[in-house]
Amino acid sequence: MAYAYDDQNIFAKILRGEIPNNTVLETPHSLAFHDIAPQAPVHVLVIPKGAYVNYDHFAAEASDAEIADYTRAIGEVCKMVEVAPGNDGGGYRLISNAGEAGVQEVPHLHVHVLGGRVLGRMLKKFDD
Ligand code: 5GP
Repeated sequence: MAYAYDDQNIFAKILRGEIPNNTVLETPHSLAFHDIAPQAPVHVLVIPKGAYVNYDHFAAEASDAEIADYTRAIGEVCKMVEVAPGNDGGGYRLISNAGEAGVQEVPHLHVHVLGGRVLGRMLKKFDD
């Protein structure tokens, strides 16, 4: 089934400049900005500028240039916010929620870059 993109979602509005954001990095195909309700000392969202609902949508339909730009933008953000272990950062976690089971709130692809503290287990144990 093809994805339908809702251009009224909050990140589409941020990309159109209708809602302000605290930008960390802007590249030709990507934008990174601080999450409005941070879950960790470092909590940055990285989004592609294109109209993609989630990761599998992006992986299937984005151009090679968009994919390369987005992948590198995420890596660059990790360095910029000083969580990249290779640059003496303390480490990070990337999360991209999709759909109902993933509990995705905003239907525009975003990767959460989280760090600045020990983040604990990836998920609660299955039988918790
Ligand atoms: P999701 O649950 O879809 O993976 O994550 C959506 C994220 O977007 C949440 O962490 C939420 O705090 C963040 N968010 C929602 N609205 C805004 C906004 O207007 N500005 C910013 N910077 N972040 C937002």
